[in-house]
Amino acid sequence: MAASDIKYNAEVRDLTRIERIGAHSHIRGLGLDDALEARVVSQGMVGQTKARKAAGVILNMIREGKIAGRAVLLAGQPGTGKTAIAMGMAKALGEETPFAMMAASEIFSLEMSKTEALTQAFRKAIGVRIKEESEIIEGEVVEVEIDRPEGGSAAKQGKLTLKTTEMETIYDLGAKMVESLSKEKVAAGDVIAIDKASGRVTKLGRSFARSRDYDAMGPATKFVQCPEGELQKRKEVVHVVSLHEIDVINSRTQGFMALFSGDTGEIRGEVREQIDAKVAEWREEGKAEVVPGVLFIDEVHMLDIECFSFLNRALESDMAPILVVATNRGITRIRGTNYRSPHGIPIDLLDRLLIIATEPYSEREIRQILDIRCEEEDVEMSDDARELLTKIGAETSLRYAIQLITAAAICCQRRKGAEVDVEDVSKVYSLFVDVKRSTQFLLEYQEQYMFNEVPGLGEDEI
Ligand code: ATP
Repeated sequence: MAASDIKYNAEVRDLTRIERIGAHSHIRGLGLDDALEARVVSQGMVGQTKARKAAGVILNMIREGKIAGRAVLLAGQPGTGKTAIAMGMAKALGEETPFAMMAASEIFSLEMSKTEALTQAFRKAIGVRIKEESEIIEGEVVEVEIDRPEGGSAAKQGKLTLKTTEMETIYDLGAKMVESLSKEKVAAGDVIAIDKASGRVTKLGRSFARSRDYDAMGPATKFVQCPEGELQKRKEVVHVVSLHEIDVINSRTQGFMALFSGDTGEIRGEVREQIDAKVAEWREEGKAEVVPGVLFIDEVHMLDIECFSFLNRALESDMAPILVVATNRGITRIRGTNYRSPHGIPIDLLDRLLIIATEPYSEREIRQILDIRCEEEDVEMSDDARELLTKIGAETSLRYAIQLITAAAICCQRRKGAEVDVEDVSKVYSLFVDVKRSTQFLLEYQEQYMFNEVPGLGEDEI
């Protein structure tokens, strides 16, 4: 390897360490209050109140986990926050509810069939909460009540009674304590002292209550007596894994390492059948619960008729996740057919969908979103520059304006400015054309381009 390659690699490695800011990294939830009303600006979300409220209703359905196989369509013009709302739902659901996200175009891969790709996506969105029992002592304990007189010696004046107050389990007292207890081998009836600060446990034995030895312990000591009878060894540990993860781990050809590389390939039908049977068994025995999550498919119009019929069927399953799809298309051809339909989605699937419409933003809302993005990208920008960027956003698109923030910040850095100003925004506006100007340019110079087909842009007016 040449020395220059080594240097190049080192630079590449350095670059990857820089934290990247995603398009939706400012979204931290749906920004709703307890009554599911959308706050005007909250959790990084601005406006689009009706759509956010509707998404909140769906969230409640998901949280209750009772309804399987519901599907939601987020429909609206480009850049109206459809993906942002889906991200907000994912954040609001928290880590325990699986949320799988894909762009419809991802299913056209050479590695696996379209239905396999969709099956994997569905199974990524179905969680299994598994309760496992591990070997840790548990038993009910009786609180030891100690009256420790201030300043005086408890041994002489104090009063100690073994009182059957509220029962609690040793396990409730903290993992560290349980760990030391296992080593101490406590028996029923033993009294143990726990140092509240360090969690250290000392076994005092049955004679403790009589010996009144407790004065040797510090004031921050809790005394408990293990109950009479057998101590059981039991501790419940709960994990949530997705059905897809269980599939991959049990697929002999892949092995669990495939989970890290993402290179899972096709998983055999028998493996899935066995896993479904096992999960059903665990459910029956009360060892596991199924947690249906959310599958979000962006650009859903990119799916074809085979995929749509697969979705129809998959939604019938009682383990189906909530399906959220998004599109910015109007009436267009359904891929794989010569039929047109609203959003390019077959009518039978469309009929199942709860449709949430997103609307274009007002100038004020564009300004608020740009403000949030400036903060997220750590860019100082003058009021005038923000004003100009807002105008650009209203006339071109919100996404274009958002993209100009970083570009303008780089211009500002180059001229060693303290904050992004109007001149930086104007400069990047002239450097990078938006769709409208690009189209105008194409119309003027179309003859000089290859495959020129204007007018009538193509079959689907793409
Ligand atoms: P497309 O149809 O082109 O996929 P979209 O409707 O999915 O567009 P998004 O990608 O969600 O649009 O929005 C474009 C950008 O604007 C993203 O960075 C997104 O986070 C941000 N954004 C959109 N709506 C909001 C909103 N209501 N509050 C905060 N940020 C938003």
